[in-house]
Amino acid sequence: MPTLNFTHFSGAVPRYGGYSLEQTDGILYLVPDTLAVRRYDPFEDIDGLLLEVVKAGAIVAACEPFLDYCLSHKMLPLRDVEFWRQGDFFAARPKEARPILDALLAFAGRYGLPIWEGIVTTTYPARCAQRLMALCQDGNDDTAYMMRYEAARRACQSSGAVPVCTLALTLLDFYLQWIEGLDGGFFPIRHADWLMAYGQEKTPRLTAQVYDLTTCINLAYAVLTAGQGKAVRQCKHCGTFFIAEDRRAEYCSPRCRGAYNSKMTRKRAKERKEKAGENLTCLPPSDTI
Ligand SMILES: [Zn+2]
Repeated sequence: MPTLNFTHFSGAVPRYGGYSLEQTDGILYLVPDTLAVRRYDPFEDIDGLLLEVVKAGAIVAACEPFLDYCLSHKMLPLRDVEFWRQGDFFAARPKEARPILDALLAFAGRYGLPIWEGIVTTTYPARCAQRLMALCQDGNDDTAYMMRYEAARRACQSSGAVPVCTLALTLLDFYLQWIEGLDGGFFPIRHADWLMAYGQEKTPRLTAQVYDLTTCINLAYAVLTAGQGKAVRQCKHCGTFFIAEDRRAEYCSPRCRGAYNSKMTRKRAKERKEKAGENLTCLPPSDTI
């Protein structure tokens, strides 16, 4: 059987003129300002897209009031549908949610929104592990909130709106997968046209045009990591996100590597000095010897 030369993706993702925040039945949504839609190709700048995704995901991961809210409501795992049951953090606490809201509005303005397809599930950043272990989920037979969730999802299909919590968890999940190494498993390729081209070529070529932003992000990540052997990394010294040529890279630049190493050398020297000082003070006074 001939091998497939399966390399080509192009995107045709909807992006509206702008987005704003709108609250309906206690849930905060990102809503397109106009109905004038243009389509663009997120694969044109894979590095830029992946860096903006991980930056926005990191802002969600860093928002303590948001994580406190979810943990105190025993949301395990973290699912967008739970905000229909427990009350939407983003509608109830707009002040505390501000850093996330600003990041998501900027993200949507640049890349549009994914299609709201089904329940988004993720978990918590590693630093919450201890609190997570202490959680035990209560059984709850109340499923009325699931029906409200489904009704809202169907209403959004025609308007192009997406709940803030859904986008926040989608981006948090990418951050956890790429930076904290959370196992992503399989992902569906949604809303795509597949084409097989084999005219004069010996090796048939399979190409796909993708219409959903989440799928484009997943495929862009696969192209970058599995295809090109690169990685999305956070610099150990300055915290900047960057595209690394090698998945073992830890620093964004030789300068940061140098700065980090000399910081550690200074730290170790200080610790040695302190230890030596402690040992000295432990010695008995000289007149007792
Ligand atoms: Zn750096």
